[in-house]
Amino acid sequence: DVTPDIFRAMMKKVGEEIIAEKDWLSDLDGVIGDGDHGVTMEIGWKAVQSAMEDAPAEETIDGTCKRMAKAFLDAVGASSGPLYATAFLRAGSAVANRLNLDAGAMAAWIAAACQGIRDRGRAEPGDKTMVDAWVPAAAAALSTAQSGVSTLDTLKAARDAAEAGMKATATMEARRGRSAKLGARSLGHVDPGAASTFVVLRAMTLALE
Ligand code: ADP
Ligand code: MG
Ligand code: MG
Repeated sequence: DVTPDIFRAMMKKVGEEIIAEKDWLSDLDGVIGDGDHGVTMEIGWKAVQSAMEDAPAEETIDGTCKRMAKAFLDAVGASSGPLYATAFLRAGSAVANRLNLDAGAMAAWIAAACQGIRDRGRAEPGDKTMVDAWVPAAAAALSTAQSGVSTLDTLKAARDAAEAGMKATATMEARRGRSAKLGARSLGHVDPGAASTFVVLRAMTLALE
């Protein structure tokens, strides 16, 4: 199971992987947005990494998620700031009664993060946003966890579904966020927020491998 210490190591790992993919994310955003998604995610996840350094010993996973939300929101002005902050708050609350995360709790964490992003941003599946990676990831995590498999296998299922969801955004016309004004010209290009969602879930998987 994922202990609070392992959880904080996972979040640091996400920061490392986001930083490694910064140029790719900004390049994707340069095609259909304003070209800063790698920069905004780097700023947000570096703030999360600092928050992990400052974590008091014995902090619960929910407590860590609450501090991550504050750090991300304070650091990031772009659209993804409030979206990720809400995701962390909701994900933490979903596991507030857990000391450690088993597969079911990990799936609940991912599903609550997804719902937080949907409630905050009001994007629907098919609108070509990060929701198109989070929704299939949450569904895959919930159904995989039910079959009694490990936390790692649950994360792998979420990661693979996020990757497929990310790729599918290339077939969608943007209806939310900055790229919505491009309409059909956004076709053929992957959404940067869906791409960073895949990076987040891949990094969480890597942290357990
Ligand atoms: P900005 O557009 O302010 O520069 P970023 O570049 O950091 O912000 O993030 C852009 C990403 O945010 C998009 O690729 C999309 O996935 C996501 N996004 C934008 N608006 C929404 C929304 N309403 N709901 C969900 N995701 C959104
Ligand atoms: Mg942008
Ligand atoms: Mg911007």
